[in-house]
Amino acid sequence: MAFRENTMSRFWSKVVSDLTPYVPGEQPKLANLIKLNTNENPYPPSPKVLAAIQGELGNDAGRLRLYPDPNADLLKAAIARSHAVTPQQIFIGNGSDEVLAHAFMALLKHEAPILFPDITYSFYPVYCGLYGIDFRTVPLADDFSINPSDYCGNRNNSGSQDHQCQGLPSGQPEKQGKIGGIIFPNPNAPTGCLLGLAAIEQILQANPDSVVVVDEAYVDFGGDSAIPLINRYDNLLVVHTLSKSRSLAGLRVGFAVGHPTLIEALERVKNSFNSYPLDRLAIVGAVAAMEDSEHFERSRQAVIASRETLTAALTELGFAVLPSAANFVFARHPQRDAAQLAQALRTKNIIVRHFKLPRIDQFLRITVGTDAECRALTEALSQIIR
Ligand SMILES: *Cc1c(COP(=O)(O)O)cnc(C)c1O
Repeated sequence: MAFRENTMSRFWSKVVSDLTPYVPGEQPKLANLIKLNTNENPYPPSPKVLAAIQGELGNDAGRLRLYPDPNADLLKAAIARSHAVTPQQIFIGNGSDEVLAHAFMALLKHEAPILFPDITYSFYPVYCGLYGIDFRTVPLADDFSINPSDYCGNRNNSGSQDHQCQGLPSGQPEKQGKIGGIIFPNPNAPTGCLLGLAAIEQILQANPDSVVVVDEAYVDFGGDSAIPLINRYDNLLVVHTLSKSRSLAGLRVGFAVGHPTLIEALERVKNSFNSYPLDRLAIVGAVAAMEDSEHFERSRQAVIASRETLTAALTELGFAVLPSAANFVFARHPQRDAAQLAQALRTKNIIVRHFKLPRIDQFLRITVGTDAECRALTEALSQIIR
């Protein structure tokens, strides 16, 4: 009997049948590819990371026989030192995607719908589907910026485009649109646009009874982190990853910083799911990465400098490039179809990301590579466009 693909199996649970999973950017197995599609760092991680991992393996290979520290206390201590917080304010997970997943379950799943931008990290609606969380998307402004007043305490039920900060007429509390929580990346993805800390404080102050999750996957490339605000706002959770600015996408380490009560909620989910999210190699590698601030500084400054060069070169080719505070740029050519550009680049062994989504289907998201990779990209584009 033949199996038909893509049809629902009678063995699947209802939850699984109803899922719409996230589709990660391609990781092609080809050599000689210029890979500018998933925002990895073009530079290697600190050599101290490799030494630490080799040390963990080398001194006593038998150590892999033993479970890792379920709390990754050494890593919590290193992150606490690096961000001037306490270990009780830190949660660690297997990549920030796992941290985010636990945050959706632990802090964003309530009666009221959560809010996030219409153009944002496409994993957020997937977590909502997985956990059965209602959500409303809030349109970005025409310049793709987040308007903080769109995320205020009480929401008018007449539609997501109609948020007002004044609150609602009294006497009809059932009509008040309560907010179950708020999440957005800062800088936003895939636009690269940055929201200032004053705007974030405005959102936090307007929502004292909802958790606001700020996903700072790219903040090291040009933004101010909201982490210092956690001491003043017990509703703020800031999520970081070592995948981008620390060049460790392959090691899978992410963390959240917030009030100990929020952290405890995350620990409760984690300890009901997988007590050992980080293996021994990831723990020692991540500690070394957090401690090598010199390498971190050099690598992120190199990416920032290349981003500015790339932005200028794309502008020269006629692209409109959104101002980016991340390690990617979001660019559109007024005369060329984005999907066709992406396809033409691919035939030249260069891959970038194109999203077939409303409002952004004429943009390309291009990861900032090394200067040589960026030059190869702009040379290829100039041939294609000519
Ligand atoms: C890359 C990315 C993540 C996921 O990072 P991992 O730690 O590799 O899971 C989370 N949020 C945003 C916005 C990202 O771009």
